[in-house]
Amino acid sequence: MADRPPESLQQKIEERLRYYEDLGIRLFYRDRVSAAAAVRLAPAVSTAAPTTASTENPLPKPIAKPLPPKPAAAAVAPRIVPIITKSAPSLFESVDKIKDDTLLKIREDIGDCTRCKLHKGRNKIVFGDGSPKADLVFIGEGPGADEDYQGLPFVGRAGKLLTQMIEAMGLRRQDVYICNVVKCRPPENRTPEPDEVSTCSPFLLRQIDVLRPKVIVCLGAVAAKTLLETPRGISQFRGQWLEWRGRKLIATYHPAYLLRNPNAKGEVWKDLQKVMAELGLQPPKKSKSSQL
Ligand code: URA
Repeated sequence: MADRPPESLQQKIEERLRYYEDLGIRLFYRDRVSAAAAVRLAPAVSTAAPTTASTENPLPKPIAKPLPPKPAAAAVAPRIVPIITKSAPSLFESVDKIKDDTLLKIREDIGDCTRCKLHKGRNKIVFGDGSPKADLVFIGEGPGADEDYQGLPFVGRAGKLLTQMIEAMGLRRQDVYICNVVKCRPPENRTPEPDEVSTCSPFLLRQIDVLRPKVIVCLGAVAAKTLLETPRGISQFRGQWLEWRGRKLIATYHPAYLLRNPNAKGEVWKDLQKVMAELGLQPPKKSKSSQL
């Protein structure tokens, strides 16, 4: 905190300012006020956007695509919100497209990974699971205890809910591809740390490049913030179509969040319906959405 001038000095300054005012030199006084106000505002501005200038890739304003004729819900084009050109180096910039890459090669490259500290506590690497031809890829945060034990993504309680979500969309688990930002379980299921995310996410990027899905669904903030390289809260862009490296991406709440906040299931179901419309999917005759 800035030191206040001693009482006598402050009095002198005030007297001097009154003197200037008496002379009609009010501008001087007003500048002083606005400068003080500016100083008071400055920290608020910088905390709201701590690294915006150097690291954040801001999410741009939505751009409405010209709408095609609208006979059926499935034919309605989603609003695409392109991610603005990056001002900061991207997490993925160094990851070149690998010619003739395959999921098998990626798994082989991961090997018995010790690249980050997560390897110390893991049982099994959880690479990913599902159809290599999937149009739809779900990306979670990282394995939990059940996943670490089985070596498969989303097989615990949150996984069961994800399976119900997939089935409510008229799909089966084996029709989609499911993977995570980090492939090893963080201790006590904590959020993966930035160094762990930056070490592991190039493999995720390669997986997506190989799969070439029509739609990516980010489950929760970690997946969304990692791919979009934004510090913004997921609620700011959840349920909006975004363009990510030429693909359509939508972020929704993580199934583990839904287990704690069942009231949010309706929002997620709306998001999944957008995905269904995009992929031309019809819900099964007896929709399972009510069971979510
Ligand atoms: N949560 C995740 O984010 N991923 C899993 O695989 C399981 C739970």
